[in-house]
Amino acid sequence: MAKTAERCAFCGRSERDVNMLINGIAGAICDECSQRAYEIVKEQMSGPKSSFGLNKEELPKPEDIKKFLDQYVIGQDDAKRYLAVSVYNHYKRLIQKVTSDDVEIEKSNIIMVGATGTGKTLLARTIAKLLHVPFAIVDATVLTEAGYVGEDIESILTRLLQAADYDVDAAQRGIVFIDEIDKIARKSDNPSITRDVSGEGVQQGLLKLLEGSIVNVPPQGGRKHPEQKMIAVDTKNILFVCGGAFDGIEKKIAQRLNTRVVGYAASCDIAQVDRHNLLKYITPTDLKSFGLIPEIIGRLPILTYLNPLDRKTLRSILTEPKNSIIKQYVKLFEMDGIKLTFDEDVFEFIVDKALEFKLGARGLRSIVEAVMMDAMYTMPSAKKKTLHVTVEYAKEKFEKSDVNRLQIA
Ligand code: ADP
Repeated sequence: MAKTAERCAFCGRSERDVNMLINGIAGAICDECSQRAYEIVKEQMSGPKSSFGLNKEELPKPEDIKKFLDQYVIGQDDAKRYLAVSVYNHYKRLIQKVTSDDVEIEKSNIIMVGATGTGKTLLARTIAKLLHVPFAIVDATVLTEAGYVGEDIESILTRLLQAADYDVDAAQRGIVFIDEIDKIARKSDNPSITRDVSGEGVQQGLLKLLEGSIVNVPPQGGRKHPEQKMIAVDTKNILFVCGGAFDGIEKKIAQRLNTRVVGYAASCDIAQVDRHNLLKYITPTDLKSFGLIPEIIGRLPILTYLNPLDRKTLRSILTEPKNSIIKQYVKLFEMDGIKLTFDEDVFEFIVDKALEFKLGARGLRSIVEAVMMDAMYTMPSAKKKTLHVTVEYAKEKFEKSDVNRLQIA
């Protein structure tokens, strides 16, 4: 019988000092050394070039970026165009660094305003798929001013560093999506009397990141503490995309439009204003009335909006995107060898319910889930290999489900 080794042939530690020893013919290796060896091999095999490299030929043009977004996101043409151009210019800035001349292109951070569930995060995520730069999504609601309960603002960059596998150079060219930026609006219209640590305080902290400066980032996130080793990150070339629902901002837009119509620009015909989608008239002034400080607004020069989702858009979202909800379910069933098909009016039923419960696009998934739950439970072990969903079937399953209880009385 072969004798098992008692020490790692690489680090020399004994079996007692490691979690695991893997025995080979000529000796043994411990878990930590094998992990390290794996990392070395991975790094060597991927070559010296960072996976976040950019070159001019690969640069997708704004129209290409938009076309790519179209495959995943329905409608929202304005937001897509703004995003495509900003991202393209961001790339150009990065390339310009190599052949720098006197004209320096300034960064154009973006702010997207639109009701929840209209596709802001989806747009940001989809852009990330296309790009070869590190990309992180962070939520502004968890941020607080340094020294208070919550996360330090620098933790935003920790996420980006993690997305870049701690490659600082790559992170410095990355893109950050800050969601729920409206939640850090000033709590009252007057500059704070009491300290506003999750609102104005955070906005002040964000300024430094947005404008471009060298920030010390805790590599593991959370709160900074004195003994922690920091990583210096220059934010000059990081593109920030912010998104928020800005609930109630329509009122401020309407007020502004009304004053303008009554006031000096009275010739402007108020009937031309699309009252159902006031967001398209949004200006930086409205963001200020909502509670963003002017300095922040100034550093988010590209302002765009997302349209509310109407019935037609919801219907398209269900089946059209490359990874639409329905396509995902068909695939799930296919993996069990089951052919899943739907009657057209099932889709109408699902959209009706999403509208009725005011669940928006997010609700579509919950409703489909409710309809399919029974089948997903029983069919993998059943003999039958086809499932055709009719509207009667969908209604019956939906009525039995929990989602039905969401109905607002
Ligand atoms: P937001 O960030 O605006 O609150 P999300 O982007 O998270 O909303 O959207 C929630 C979900 O709704 C997405 O994952 C997607 O499935 C669907 N969705 C929303 N808007 C669209 C759209 N325009 N096209 C395709 N899917 C959409």
